[in-house]
Amino acid sequence: MKVLVVGGGGREHALAWKIGLSPRVQQVFVAPGNAGTAIDATNVDIAATDKPAIIAFAKSNQIDLVVVGPEAPLVDGLVDDLEEAGILTFGPSAEAAELEGSKVFCKNLLHTANIPTAGFQAFRRGEDASRYIKDRYPEPSEPVPVVVKADGLAAGKGVIVCDSREEALDAIERICGDREFGDAGNELIIEEKLIGQEASVLAITDGETIVTLPAAQDHKPAYDGDKGPNTGGMGAYCPTPIVDEEMMQKVEEEVLVPIVHAMKRARKPFKGVLYAGLMLTPAGPKVLEFNVRFGDPECQPLLMRLKTDLFDILEAAANGKLSELEPLEWDDRPSLCVVMASEGYPASYEKGRVITGLEAADAIEDVKVFHAGTTMDGGKVVNDGGRVLGVTAMGDNINLAKLQAYKAVKEIRWQGAWCRKDISDKAR
Ligand code: ATP
Repeated sequence: MKVLVVGGGGREHALAWKIGLSPRVQQVFVAPGNAGTAIDATNVDIAATDKPAIIAFAKSNQIDLVVVGPEAPLVDGLVDDLEEAGILTFGPSAEAAELEGSKVFCKNLLHTANIPTAGFQAFRRGEDASRYIKDRYPEPSEPVPVVVKADGLAAGKGVIVCDSREEALDAIERICGDREFGDAGNELIIEEKLIGQEASVLAITDGETIVTLPAAQDHKPAYDGDKGPNTGGMGAYCPTPIVDEEMMQKVEEEVLVPIVHAMKRARKPFKGVLYAGLMLTPAGPKVLEFNVRFGDPECQPLLMRLKTDLFDILEAAANGKLSELEPLEWDDRPSLCVVMASEGYPASYEKGRVITGLEAADAIEDVKVFHAGTTMDGGKVVNDGGRVLGVTAMGDNINLAKLQAYKAVKEIRWQGAWCRKDISDKAR
């Protein structure tokens, strides 16, 4: 079999690596890939958003399965176009991807399907949103615990958590007045701020059958102790003890099963990865967001532990045959991914700095270094993005996995490289 993975981040490196381990797969291509996928697979110089070029490549190379990693091409209808061209594809249609592409659509669906989530209001006009804040919180100095969100995709930056009236009004102005997030801010929602621990529960579905993966925990803020600005994710570990068996059952019954049914009722049947971003509140799990693809970096520790053939799973999901699959098998050992980032990230950063120590890090037992923002320059691996590497390790317990991952991190050097030092500490 020949597989094409679309994307070029850490998630796509992990997908390409795992798919390549399948005895049924002869060749894995990644478009556009990075310096890591160039080693574990074959890179194709096509952007993830270049639909005609991806379809032409898949056709002329007789690709048996395309796996679309990032959200943008999913929302843009890449899966629809590939399927129309007769190519088997893993991922949701554009209509189903609206679950991530429009927060207003997602919140309305959650509300209709009675799936637990924060209370919310949607607005098209900034002045209506501002008036709502002023009416609801008439005392200028009282706390205003709300979250203001641009409707569309904004790479994790269109969500502004507020505590005061000033912050909420400023967030509305940034979205509607300054148009900081462009058309993603054509609508906005204001929702109640929830308190609790966050967890990610991912499931693979073919629209009928749901296969739930072990719960993971991401670390979105840039610095230790969850300080600093939000990022794409600075690390993740799996499984997380904050989601015990009872909680997992609740998530399946109250969130995952009803959302698959609700999408079917909305005539947007969902196949692909359903990623529930959850806040575990004293009143139970509540949905913060749905993503329609593997989380990055949650994908890396998840796939490190997966023992079942990933190609079999993705092929079955794409073919609507998940019910025929045996239960998934996992390595009992926990795993952990530490993201190493460029100096200055999540703000601007310099590219092209030479990275050393990759081979020594990869040689450490139970360690795999997944590349994200890397490329080759004159035979050397250099940084080419904000999040550069996902150093992933397994261990007999989470402490040992952490030790192993940070041992590998120490081997890797480039000017200005940094990472969080506390990934998985919340597991304790
Ligand atoms: P974007 O759409 O810009 O790509 P995103 O989809 O990553 O962003 P969310 O996951 O909805 O955005 O929110 C990002 C973070 O904001 C969450 O991980 C959480 O920490 C915080 N957050 C979102 N909604 C709430 C809420 N209702 N209460 C408390 N915190 C929240």
